Amino acid sequence: MTDFAFPPAALPSVAIAGSSQCFPVHRIYCIGRNYADHAREMGADPERGTPIFFSKPADAVVANDAVIPYPQRTSNLHHEVELVVAIGRGGREVPQERVLDCVFGYAVGIDLTRRDLQQASKQKGLPWDTGKGFDRSAPIAVIRPASRGHVSKGRIWLTVNGQQRQQSDVSEMLWKVPEIIAELSAFFELEPGDLIFTGTPAGVGALQPGDRLESGVEGLDTLRITIGER
Ligand code: MN
Repeated sequence: MTDFAFPPAALPSVAIAGSSQCFPVHRIYCIGRNYADHAREMGADPERGTPIFFSKPADAVVANDAVIPYPQRTSNLHHEVELVVAIGRGGREVPQERVLDCVFGYAVGIDLTRRDLQQASKQKGLPWDTGKGFDRSAPIAVIRPASRGHVSKGRIWLTVNGQQRQQSDVSEMLWKVPEIIAELSAFFELEPGDLIFTGTPAGVGALQPGDRLESGVEGLDTLRITIGER
C-alpha cells in the first residue's frame, strides 16, 4: 500500500440513474463552439474547422440540486447547457465506428463560465483556465447508462427562474458525439471515468445570486442548480 504524506483528496463522482453505484470522474474535457448559433453569438465563424478542446479539473463536478456560490473574481458568470458524454472504456485514436463502445452513458451538464475572464484571455491569446476551469464549474445531473440508448438528437434547453434562455436540438452539434470522441482520443488517451462536455447552443447569458436554473436534454434527468451569494 502506498504511504501518502497526507490523506489523498476524495475521488470526484457522479450518480448513475437506477443504480446505487457512482461514476468515478477521471478527467473533464470540453469542446467549444460546437453549435453554429452559439459560435455566431460569440462573434466567431461557425465553420467546423478543427474542434476547440479545453478542460476542467475533475473535482469541478457538482451534484444535482446544489447551491453553487457565485464565484470570485467575476462579474459576468454565464450558463452553458451541454450534453455530457461519460466514458466507460478508454482508448487512443479510437476509430469512429468503435467509439460508441467507449460510451458509458449520457447526462445534462452546465459549463459555468466566468465570461469576462474568458474574453480577456481570448483577447490576449492566453489560456482559458481561469474563465473555464474554476471550482464548482461543472454541475452535472445523474448519468443515464448507454444501455438505455445513445443520444444523437433531442431538445436541449435551459431556463433561469422559469424563463427560457437556451433551446436547440442536440442534432445541431457541428461535431457529433462519435466524431468528438474519435478526435479527442487522437490528442489524449481516453480513460474510463472521463467526461466530455459537448458544447452549448445559443442563448448563453449572465447569472445573478439567487437565480434558479433548470436544464435538460430530452430523455435525460433534468439538472437543477441555484446560484448562491458571493
Ligand atoms: Mn461550453
